[in-house]
Amino acid sequence: MKQYDYLIVGSGLFGSVFAYKAAQQGKKCLVIDKRSHLGGNIFCEEVEGINVHKYGAHIFHTSNKQVWDFVNSIVEFNRYTNSPIANYKGKLYNLPFNMNTFYQMWGVATPSDAMKIIKRQKNEAVTLLNGKEPQNLEEQALLLVGRDIYERLIKGYTEKQWGRKCTELPAFIIKRLPVRLIFDNNYFNDKYQGIPIGGYNKLIKGLLTGVKTMVNTNFFEERACWERIADKIVFTGKIDEYYNYCFGKLEYRTVRFEEEVHDCSNYQGNAVVNYTEAEVPYTRIIEHKHFEMFGTEIDKCSKTVVSKEYSTEWQPGMEPYYPVNDEKNSTLYIQYKKLADEEDNVIFGGRLAEYKYYDMHNIVEKVLKYF
Ligand code: FAD
Ligand code: UDP
Repeated sequence: MKQYDYLIVGSGLFGSVFAYKAAQQGKKCLVIDKRSHLGGNIFCEEVEGINVHKYGAHIFHTSNKQVWDFVNSIVEFNRYTNSPIANYKGKLYNLPFNMNTFYQMWGVATPSDAMKIIKRQKNEAVTLLNGKEPQNLEEQALLLVGRDIYERLIKGYTEKQWGRKCTELPAFIIKRLPVRLIFDNNYFNDKYQGIPIGGYNKLIKGLLTGVKTMVNTNFFEERACWERIADKIVFTGKIDEYYNYCFGKLEYRTVRFEEEVHDCSNYQGNAVVNYTEAEVPYTRIIEHKHFEMFGTEIDKCSKTVVSKEYSTEWQPGMEPYYPVNDEKNSTLYIQYKKLADEEDNVIFGGRLAEYKYYDMHNIVEKVLKYF
């Protein structure tokens, strides 16, 4: 008889939802995490009474009612709607690309006038493609929205974020951006979105209540002992590390956050401002209070906390944030996945173990499906 049914390596959203569902079925779980806190990348730290998203801004969005009901059964979510602003050389544009953006860009006030300009610019892109399918992000973006938007709102931001030229990036990255002919600044098309009232730590706490957890505990430091402790392991760390990098190292992009506390109640008037020109070294500034404080609440808190995000190449020792979706890394991942598929007692789940850029709702959905 082993001491636990499941040893869960990693207390991020995958590990925490898994522990919650397993515990509900009467299974005994132990969750370990190498960090000094629980919650993985959705962890928040309270600074000046504001929940600061320590590993990057997180907005929950989904169209899956079951997922939405599940997270709301743990903690109620607020009505935050993500509507980032783009700052290009001091001029502001609404995102995603919608009638407000087209008005700011070209002075057009109706969908048909906006469409005329977009169509003209798209036709230029079609001519350039000369019958080919778009081969890279630049060609895809020119075809989607035309040159003006590409040059002011996409090129600089994307090249900073990925550290590669748009002509060297895959086209699919940009297909995620909605283009709308209505005045609607809601960044997501999903039916539901919001932030847990009281912050993401409340969600994690709710999921892990009654589950045994250990922080500052790295699976690899006493691997043999951890492998004996439970019937099954749920592994949410890096899959290449699990296999001792036997085929080589997977690559990531990472982000460095520069946090500043300002002596004013409102720094930029919005949670997210993207800096889309190449010359500004950071990609965006997050003002954390706007995720959870609305209306008169903003001024009741006399300080504010902002984070500037600098996107860089990942090196060992840094946080692995974004899997690099190129051919080399995808091929390498498939080699590791083959080994993982042969395991009977190890479940690989989450962003690092599946080397996939999952949003939070994808993670919740996967675990709910598993159970
Ligand atoms: P993680 O949260 O990374 O958890 C993995 C855990 O495993 C970590 O706590 C780690 O310390 C632990 N671990 C790793 N190795 C070991 C080991 N050897 N021993 C012990 N513990 C270990 N999603 C959205 O839906 N909306 C957003 O707005 C959004 N914004 C994002 C912004 C950024 C910058 C990033 C990087 C991601 C964002 N996401 C967003 C995605 C979201 O973070 C993920 O979907 C989710 O957090 C993944 O959960 P996870 O459990 O797979 O991974
Ligand atoms: N993007 C852009 N300008 C912006 C915001 C996004 O060009 O102001 C591009 C960029 O290439 C990014 C992609 O759109 O990688 C997807 O953006 P999203 O915000 O959905 O990406 P995330 O940071 O959540 O991966």
